[in-house]
Amino acid sequence: MVSALPADILEQLRQQLIVARDEIAAALAAGLESAKPVELDEPIGRLSRMEAIQQQQMAKATRAGLEVRRQQVAAALAMLDAGTYGECRRCEEPIGLERLRAKPETPLCLDCQGELERR
Ligand SMILES: [Zn+2]
Repeated sequence: MVSALPADILEQLRQQLIVARDEIAAALAAGLESAKPVELDEPIGRLSRMEAIQQQQMAKATRAGLEVRRQQVAAALAMLDAGTYGECRRCEEPIGLERLRAKPETPLCLDCQGELERR
């Protein structure tokens, strides 16, 4: 199914995606620093060492989330070029414009996203 969205709307969403792509790239680059292994030889005490490891795990989770988003943004831009953008990848129904504006990289419509999250 070809996307029914008007060209100017698609262009706005493309700009949003490009901005998001740059933001994600910057966040991933900045995150490299905090994702460094904790130096266990450092005399920082037991508690702060645990905190450091926790922080590292959080940074890792953030990074994993960013990687997913990065791939979604890249896929969305590819779909824009292919003319299939705005279509749910699961049920192939059009994704609502409000949803696309809020999260232009989303691959799924609200219904399918909800179903996946309830599993
Ligand atoms: Zn769907």
